[in-house]
Amino acid sequence: EEGKLKKPDWLRVRYNDSPQVDAIKQTLRQHSLASVCEEASCPNLYECFSKGTATFMIMGDICTRRCPFCDVAHGRPNALDSDEPAKLAEAVTSMGLKYVVITSVDRDDLRDGGAGHFVACIDEIRKRSDSIRIECLVPDFRGRLEDAIAKFKTCVPDVLNHNLESVPRLYKQIRPGSSYEESLRLLKSFKTEHPDIMTKSGIMLGLGETESEIHEVMKALREAHVDMITIGQYLQPSKHHLPVDRYVTPEEFDRLHDLAIEMGFVHAACGPLVRSSYHADEYSF
Ligand code: SF4
Ligand code: SF4
Repeated sequence: EEGKLKKPDWLRVRYNDSPQVDAIKQTLRQHSLASVCEEASCPNLYECFSKGTATFMIMGDICTRRCPFCDVAHGRPNALDSDEPAKLAEAVTSMGLKYVVITSVDRDDLRDGGAGHFVACIDEIRKRSDSIRIECLVPDFRGRLEDAIAKFKTCVPDVLNHNLESVPRLYKQIRPGSSYEESLRLLKSFKTEHPDIMTKSGIMLGLGETESEIHEVMKALREAHVDMITIGQYLQPSKHHLPVDRYVTPEEFDRLHDLAIEMGFVHAACGPLVRSSYHADEYSF
């Protein structure tokens, strides 16, 4: 019962260290910032850091929800650090990053779900640089959607990303406390308010979904006018997490990529090692 599927060769990655990666890690330490890249031991870390892309986790590392595929700790969250936006902006500019992804845990304890803090981070970065592109990978702001959307009224990222993670049938099991419909509504509402801002979403495969269910989600995303999609392989962070149901072949990912483009997504990153922020910088605006 322990997810005894053998890991296929295409998921084996080589870890390269380089002075450039070391320098970025140093800067993160100096500014006491957490990157998802490091925390999640992302297999793409070397590639992303070398290209000037990194994903930062704001508002602490304790989530108010508990998704059984996710490695983030849950419990009572940290108090908001009002200096964090400025610290993040300083680090981002001193690291010479070109594309920054800002994400957070779910903050069901905050009235706006943390949207105001996201906006403060965008604002501080933009004060220091007008060339760094910013993607916000936001939680669902469930129950606070209107408040959250209002916070983005005058200050928006270059890309608004919110992951559906999986197909609706599996939500109860995989995303307790979240709602597929509400997540779609967030993407749709944001696009209605800001038609010129790119929106993006992603799912993980290997959790028990079927091919037609994947297609259904892709279709729903297009109906919500989502521009970009990421589709990757779910990997079990530890034996206490949901087991992997299957390893999707690179060929199936290629087919999904072609289908996504056919459906009208302007950018699709589909592959075994694809993460939400993988090759995020590749789409030129
Ligand atoms: Fe970081 Fe995302 Fe790149 Fe992984 S894919 S190293 S999390 S930016
Ligand atoms: Fe992890 Fe997000 Fe679920 Fe929190 S809401 S447990 S950060 S996937």
